[in-house]
Amino acid sequence: MSGPAPGARRAATDPRPAAPETRLDAVRRLAARFAAAGIDGPRLDAELLVAEVVDPGRPDRTRLFLDGHEPLTPSQAATLAALERRRADERAPVAHLLGTRGFRHVDLVVDGRVLVPRPETELLVEVGLELPSGAAVLDVGTGSGAIALALADERPDLRIHATDVSPDALAVARENARRLDLPVTFHAGDLLAGLDAAAIGTPLAVLSNPPYVPDGDRPSLMPEVRDHDPALALFGGPDGLDVVRRLVPAATDAGAALLAIEIGAGQAPATAALLEAAGWRDVAVRDDLAGIGRVVLGRRP
Ligand code: SAM
Ligand code: GLN
Repeated sequence: MSGPAPGARRAATDPRPAAPETRLDAVRRLAARFAAAGIDGPRLDAELLVAEVVDPGRPDRTRLFLDGHEPLTPSQAATLAALERRRADERAPVAHLLGTRGFRHVDLVVDGRVLVPRPETELLVEVGLELPSGAAVLDVGTGSGAIALALADERPDLRIHATDVSPDALAVARENARRLDLPVTFHAGDLLAGLDAAAIGTPLAVLSNPPYVPDGDRPSLMPEVRDHDPALALFGGPDGLDVVRRLVPAATDAGAALLAIEIGAGQAPATAALLEAAGWRDVAVRDDLAGIGRVVLGRRP
């Protein structure tokens, strides 16, 4: 066997040959195991984990194809066995195993204290990129800091603030801002409570990816989401829109000129109606790459 004993539970199913396993053989074996476990994108995950043990902290999948026939060292094999178990058995997201997730042009440190940023949330950043020079932005429910920090990175002219009700999430967001050396001002609290919107500046754009999963959807969520993203980041009451229903009046009262909210499949009509009822104009829906109405936005004079 290569590496230390992988443990009795794995031994029965582990087809590793007696010779040390090569990097590419490890990718194939992990991909097959992940596929059998029902994991989405099993090959990509396998490549990322093998690349991570070969070059910790700087996983480079392309190098696997150049050096794929190199054998794993015993210590790499042991590290990989632990990552493989956490991915296949615990269904830990790859972002947790690597400790980072790329979001637009920034790498964010992520762990169980924050939602793993999703590609569709980049739509909210795109809304922010359209803002006039010098505008103020408030990212409500910033989590890892994804939206605020990606915008700060691409639009240094904007004045960017971010809030979260979770002190744990804010700790992660602040750590990301420090590591990336990006100027975002963080506030703790419920939605916009306690914020002096005038001090943040005008015109003010409120961007938010709030929790919007209906409580009853919990059993059907992928284990990576249900068991590893914080519940506070996910669930929004019986129809998922409890936080949205409070956010719309809060942004209205703060005098925001633009409000853009991420929502889930099927929630765009109800969310657009909430904005219209609160006096927002030019209410529109933007679709994600899967064609799902993902962001509802409105403007006020
Ligand atoms: N903005 C991050 C992103 O897009 O990756 C995280 C979004 S996550 C879906 C929602 C975030 O909102 C969580 O960090 C959660 O702690 C925060 N949150 C939930 N309820 C909140 C509230 N009432 N006020 C402020 N933040 C809240
Ligand atoms: N997009 C996430 C999911 O369905 C939910 C995030 C949210 O509630 N804002 O996994």
